Amino acid sequence: MHATTADLVALGRRRYLPVYRPREVVLDRGEGSRVWDRDGRDYIDFAAGIAVCGLGHNDPDLVAALTAQAGRLWHTSNVFYSEPPLRLAEELVQASRFAERVFLCNSGAEANEAAIKLARKWASAQGRAPDRRVIVSFRGSFHGRTLAAVTATAQPKYHEGYEPLPQGFRYVDFNDVAALESAMAGGDVCAVLLEPVQGEGGVMPAAAGYLQAVHALCDRHGALLMLDEIQCGMGRTGTLFAHWQDQVVPDIVTLAKALGGGFPIGAMLAGPKAAEAMQFGAHGTTFGGNPLAAAVARVALRKLGSAEVARNVERQASALRAGIEAIDRDTRLFSGLRGRGLMLGAVLAPGFQGRAGEVLDQAAQHGLLVLQAGADVVRFVPPLTLTDGELSEGLARLGDALRAFLAGATGR
Ligand SMILES: *Cc1c(COP(=O)(O)O)cnc(C)c1O
Repeated sequence: MHATTADLVALGRRRYLPVYRPREVVLDRGEGSRVWDRDGRDYIDFAAGIAVCGLGHNDPDLVAALTAQAGRLWHTSNVFYSEPPLRLAEELVQASRFAERVFLCNSGAEANEAAIKLARKWASAQGRAPDRRVIVSFRGSFHGRTLAAVTATAQPKYHEGYEPLPQGFRYVDFNDVAALESAMAGGDVCAVLLEPVQGEGGVMPAAAGYLQAVHALCDRHGALLMLDEIQCGMGRTGTLFAHWQDQVVPDIVTLAKALGGGFPIGAMLAGPKAAEAMQFGAHGTTFGGNPLAAAVARVALRKLGSAEVARNVERQASALRAGIEAIDRDTRLFSGLRGRGLMLGAVLAPGFQGRAGEVLDQAAQHGLLVLQAGADVVRFVPPLTLTDGELSEGLARLGDALRAFLAGATGR
């Protein structure tokens, strides 16, 4: 019996832990920045699997890398070497311009968990007492869902019911230098963890000069500067690493999402100050450095760092901005558009706040995948390989969706 889309949706409702609320769409295949559901409807993809599919869907080079490795060796554990993760580590170090060592893992949360643990080990090796190993993070941040990463995520809605949370975290307002200065004044902070562009928290870029000010405070107080580039890294904002635009040299950078082009992988990159902090036995993971993931990530890294991708991000980012602004001159749904490169957030105007999810529903009904970042921001994170044709088709569908939303919204 052929299952209908409704059957599959019902199955998901019954059998998945109900922590998600997927749209009633069952996606089946993709090509570039377009995906099809199993009923044959097509969607322009401005979501890229939450900023994961940086090279779009079905990239022939990624497919070739995966299938070639699939016919050789799938897994070795970290008890033995294999070549793809060794090569990937070297390529990440070279590409990063700061790192000396790499810890490979499987997700963003796991990369941040490694960074948090490394900061604690690093501080402990200096003889700092446990209560002087505080990690500062920022309101509106998102660092993942493991218990330490979610504690670093300074948004109460993600903490509710999970108490007692791990100790030694302190939250500060983002883009507020004075607030960070006073949070560090006691000398008990061992690391500062932040996203150069906050993603889930509403697509909020660091203000000009902010990262440099954070860096200076870290230097003054002997704290590690740890950048979470899981969403904003890997070319998304126009440079391979987002912080290149802020002219800072971090101690730690975490990556995941786009690094594998859709294959699960995470990485923590460590610079000279912290690279030796974790020694034999201090940390580990069974799947980290998996040869399949690494083989794909090597190709993804090379392509995402290419001048061609950077040029396309610049081109499509300005076209996407201009297109959203043009639609908004009619619809007046948004009060602002912020972000960097192909990581944009359209902020719902006061009369429409809390309704980003409904905009998502309308977009999907009009053949367009977008995301929200909180309830008030519609997020656009398309593949970095988006073409002119896909962009204009996506914008046309966005216009239709927003007008339909507005008609429904005002028709109440
Ligand atoms: C998605 C995300 C994470 C968590 O990554 P997972 O792979 O879901 O664990 C952490 N930090 C940022 C900035 C993210 O966008």
